[in-house]
Amino acid sequence: MLAKMGNLQHHFGRKGKPTADSAICHLCRAGATDIPYEEYDVNAAWYDSYLQTRPWCRPPPFSRLPLLPEEELFFQFDVFHVMHKGIVAEFVGSAIVTLLDKGCVGDGDVLTRLERIYDELSCFCKREGLPLHMTGLTRHLLSFSKDADYPCGTWFKGADTYSVAKWVEHKFRDLDAPSWDEYRQSIYETAKHANDFLGKLYRNGLWLQPFVVGPVIRSGMGFLQEYRVCAQFAFEDNKCRYKIPPKYHAFCHITHTLIEQLGRVGSRELESNLPCVISPLAWGCQLDEDFVGQISALSRTSNLNGAHERVMNLYLLNLPKYW
Ligand SMILES: [Zn+2]
Repeated sequence: MLAKMGNLQHHFGRKGKPTADSAICHLCRAGATDIPYEEYDVNAAWYDSYLQTRPWCRPPPFSRLPLLPEEELFFQFDVFHVMHKGIVAEFVGSAIVTLLDKGCVGDGDVLTRLERIYDELSCFCKREGLPLHMTGLTRHLLSFSKDADYPCGTWFKGADTYSVAKWVEHKFRDLDAPSWDEYRQSIYETAKHANDFLGKLYRNGLWLQPFVVGPVIRSGMGFLQEYRVCAQFAFEDNKCRYKIPPKYHAFCHITHTLIEQLGRVGSRELESNLPCVISPLAWGCQLDEDFVGQISALSRTSNLNGAHERVMNLYLLNLPKYW
């Protein structure tokens, strides 16, 4: 959708063998020859290519809007799709399968052991007051039909990803893993960084004060670093776990944008704690998607004849009910 709306020639669908024109990102040239998108720190090769090349041959209609100094920035990465439905879903999917790999869930076939994990997860969420919409855990939900697959949480509700990540942090913090303790520690650290990053954003408003942004950035960079360590441990185990997809790179941009914004904050603002950095949640679209979902639910209760008018009337009736 984003690629079509933006006439983007550089987008995640270009992922493959690197060539001179195979950039996977509309903001930089990551993914092209000699510019790996898997690098995350400020020395990454893609860093110098940020906003240096237009990602389209034909400018999209939206680029005419007089909103931003750089037209590409109209198309923002949003936290919900990059994290809840992206890299954190990849991470927790792999963390769950790592428990199977390491024999931490007792005996039985995969489905039996996944049921045990679900029971534990469900009890944890009830105890902690976390939402959990999924009603079970299966190979299908983990996109894990065989051992050679890279697992990923594919449950419908993105909010479940946060609950599962909280459970992964809890589970791996206390796990007895004498033969693979460094690996366990990296998984725990990765989960903790993801949860700290999201928790701090959700507990704060649209504008983040500089003293909040520093810890958010540290959590973001910590997640990027430890996720790669997990991938390295899995690689040494000859396991396909902790895939590094283009959304890993998108999360690099979310974190680096905060670093850049903080860099523009002068010492005067730091001293006076003026709110001056916009939260990445400003570009999140889960609320909009939920809203569309509500309208869609109304439309499913309406007869096809005159559906538009009926849906509008139902919407108006529901509006004062919940206002
Ligand atoms: Zn990029």
